[in-house]
Amino acid sequence: MTYQPIIGMEVHVELNTHSKMFCACSADFFGVPPNTHVCPVCLGMPGALPVINRRAIEYTLMIGLALNCQIRPHNVFARKNYFYPDLPKGYQISQYELPLCLGGYVDIDTDDGQTKRIHVRRVHLEEDTGKLVHVNGASLVDLNRAGVPLVEIVTEADIHSAEEAYAYVTKLRQLVRYLGVSSGDMEKGAMRCEVNLSLKETGSEKWGTKVEIKNLNSFRSVRNSIAYEIERQKKVLASGGVIEQVTMGWDENRSVTVLQRTKEGDTGYRYFPEPDLPPLDLEPAWIEQIKANLPELPDAKLARYLADYGLSKKEAAILSEDRATAEYYESVVVAAGDRPGVTPKLISNWVSGELFRLWGERGVELSQVKVKPEHLVALIELVNSNTINQPAAKQTFGVMFDTGRPPLEIVEELGLRQISDAGQLVPVVQQVIADNPEPAAQVRAGKEATLKFLVGQVMKATRGKANPQLAEQVLREQLMG
Ligand SMILES: [Zn+2]
Repeated sequence: MTYQPIIGMEVHVELNTHSKMFCACSADFFGVPPNTHVCPVCLGMPGALPVINRRAIEYTLMIGLALNCQIRPHNVFARKNYFYPDLPKGYQISQYELPLCLGGYVDIDTDDGQTKRIHVRRVHLEEDTGKLVHVNGASLVDLNRAGVPLVEIVTEADIHSAEEAYAYVTKLRQLVRYLGVSSGDMEKGAMRCEVNLSLKETGSEKWGTKVEIKNLNSFRSVRNSIAYEIERQKKVLASGGVIEQVTMGWDENRSVTVLQRTKEGDTGYRYFPEPDLPPLDLEPAWIEQIKANLPELPDAKLARYLADYGLSKKEAAILSEDRATAEYYESVVVAAGDRPGVTPKLISNWVSGELFRLWGERGVELSQVKVKPEHLVALIELVNSNTINQPAAKQTFGVMFDTGRPPLEIVEELGLRQISDAGQLVPVVQQVIADNPEPAAQVRAGKEATLKFLVGQVMKATRGKANPQLAEQVLREQLMG
């Protein structure tokens, strides 16, 4: 018996607005002393009334538009009732039948180099809960996170493997970071995933029983828990067992899914329209304005780099991976303008080569990079005009990276100018021939390979500054006469 995994995902994305979803408290809770960013609204005090955060709506629409969704002009918040110690109101304000965004899609790259479309069922906005902290057998509650705006993105069951799920959440993180609406840091809980997984027998139309895996808080745990759960269900079915509809968690240390609880239905939440909030009607002009102000998204950027800049797909993917890198790269391309010889491809080599290398080595952020775009253009021109050779250019770039100084100044200071004047090389070449009579004789006798050795000696004598082609030419002249 063979099976196809049928996977749908729910991803919660914490928005990085200044204030919370329904009150003026700071939405920043990471590393903040417990219960300091709270007020009667997010503490659920009787009589406190919520006010909708406009920026949170705007960010949710940005996500919806980036995911190619329809934006619904008429929206209603819903009350989702349940008891949990980190939920002071005894309910969560969410959206149910009328979410902000419906029916979109996102394209992911699959392992075999193809593109696959994952359909998005809905995107809605809700408020986060607080957090329980368990210390020495006691449970303490911290409500700094209670009421932080949280967007939920739900896919159709289009995902068929652990790798596709991984590619999807990675793409989603890239998108929210491009939009600047969330840090997307799974490790800090700014993105949290839930997976619905069932197995469909090959050739059958009927899906198996759905199992939910909750609270996945790293990209690795998304991939590993799905891979594990697929195998677990296959084994149960192979031994004649039945898959039960349950909610599982992922035990990172043991690398297994573990039973958390048997599933309750939506009816358990007794959803009803939130009586403390009016319906939310969106101005079409406002939606259009948000749409017009969206940044260029990674897929469009990558396509443009391929078409306009002549980069390979790999280069284009590296440079468009995150928005800051892409913007830096493009600023150099713009600075180069129509300068002959300073091509987007050459600039790509420097950015993804030396710049990335020094980033890793020096551990600095892109925002702190001191190399000005026009200085990188000037450096490339110095190489193109044979003023400096490639090793000298790398040395110069290292100083530019650390100091932000213009390249020519560094070249003069360090004496890196390439010797491209034959007259200047003649005495050096003559000395090298005098010092190496054996190899010189071999070259005269026609042993071409030894000429490279003599070129190396000239480079050494000039501390790397000789133009190697010119050194070879002068050597030939001096040896052959
Ligand atoms: Zn508050």
